[in-house]
Amino acid sequence: MPEPLTTERRALLLADPPGRSQIRFALAAVLVSVATFVAVVPSATQPVARIPAFIPAYESALAICFLITAALLYGQYNFSRARGLLVLASGYLFTACVIVAHILCFPGVFSATGLLGAGPQTSVWLYVFWHGGFPLFVLAYALLDRNAPRPTTASEPDSAQSIDSTARIVLAAMFTLIVVSALTLTASAGQALLPALLLEDHPTSTLAKLGYGFWLLSLLALFGLWRRQPRTTLDLWLMVVMCGWLFEVALFVIFNTARFDLGWYASRIYGLLAASSLLIVLLLETATQNARLAQLTRELSDANRGLEQLSLHDALTTLANRRFFDAYLAAQIAIARRHGRELALVMCDADAFKTYNDDYGHQAGDECLKRIAAALQSCCHRPADMVARYGGEEFALILPETGLADATRIAEEARRAVAELKILHARAPAAARVSISAGVTVLDGDMSAQQLIRKADRNLFEAKRQGRNRVVC
Ligand code: GH3
Ligand code: MG
Ligand code: MG
Repeated sequence: MPEPLTTERRALLLADPPGRSQIRFALAAVLVSVATFVAVVPSATQPVARIPAFIPAYESALAICFLITAALLYGQYNFSRARGLLVLASGYLFTACVIVAHILCFPGVFSATGLLGAGPQTSVWLYVFWHGGFPLFVLAYALLDRNAPRPTTASEPDSAQSIDSTARIVLAAMFTLIVVSALTLTASAGQALLPALLLEDHPTSTLAKLGYGFWLLSLLALFGLWRRQPRTTLDLWLMVVMCGWLFEVALFVIFNTARFDLGWYASRIYGLLAASSLLIVLLLETATQNARLAQLTRELSDANRGLEQLSLHDALTTLANRRFFDAYLAAQIAIARRHGRELALVMCDADAFKTYNDDYGHQAGDECLKRIAAALQSCCHRPADMVARYGGEEFALILPETGLADATRIAEEARRAVAELKILHARAPAAARVSISAGVTVLDGDMSAQQLIRKADRNLFEAKRQGRNRVVC
């Protein structure tokens, strides 16, 4: 059975410590990365066909992956209000936007030199901002989000908190867009001021140094994630992302691959796998949470039905209890009055039940009450008829659309049904068997429920007075 969503934390995606299967999956992903890396490195610098359409196709997919992940993480922040998630979501948004700028500025994609006033160094500088920026965000996430997400306080209204966190998301997203715009402007309009990073598609020593820098930064982010306690499933998959990131950067910069050689293409594939791994896990987790939610909703409605049953029925006899009786009688009086229909009420009481308890014990008394209840129930045939346990050993029959003669007949039938149970009661007033007395009445004029009950009770009292085991109407 799935665990209930007892805390906000449980409802968050990937907020639990990773299970063994998650860890195994993550390790497998890293091992595949290592194996591919080892296989690719020897021929990394081997030139491969130049496919200009590769960049827009691959980077569009990448940008969409980062964008959807950012949206999911912003959603998680909105729920948990953990600042680390806001930073991480902004990191994904930042990367998605830099990738879009990178596609636009990449030479030969939309124009020979690239759009947005791009020069030969613009796209590679954007690549640097992209690969240096994302690990910075991850590192900030790893440092910021050490503690569990702050729970919602009872004093603060939920809507106010939601507005507050939505405003923070908008601010963070706007700030991210401004930073990306400024960096794009720097890489295009200001490229003359920046050192060259590519010479005829080959990285310069400056790019190699920068590459080492953000490779180390990625390693630091990975270390930061490793050190987080308690480590969540999100942390685990971010570690997988950072491993892919390390391999991608290593292939492109450290192994000095040039544009459109094998290592360059392979590093791109790493980028895509790294970007999509967390997204896939998040989407799978969303599906799992939805299934859990559906299951919980089912359990909740079952529990509600159970509670309703408990609150309206008597535990011993399972008949309607006094609360249900009161509500049902009031409703039936209103219906009878509105439609000018008849309504009868029969009040029954077990005879000499105190002595029954005294002679046979309370447990036998309880059993006896259950059997009386079943006998009374067997006499009510219409769906609208109700048998209720009015009090200790008192029962009531509400008989809609029933006149005095029919109600008396049913009450007599009920009395006989109890007598025919033939429950031994040595000190009973009639034939040493458990019996009931009944008082019958019908709705008259603008009688209230209380008046109707009182009248039926008077008839019941009269039945008792006349010697019990009888019906008085
Ligand atoms: P009468 O014929 O006048 O109705 O006599 P009586 O003994 O039935 O009347 P009284 O009201 O003095 O006693 C009712 C008894 O019903 C007392 C109480 O112990 C018993 N009783 C009420 N509720 C329960 C119950 O849930 N279980 C059992 N075993 N006994 C109950
Ligand atoms: Mg009684
Ligand atoms: Mg009694």
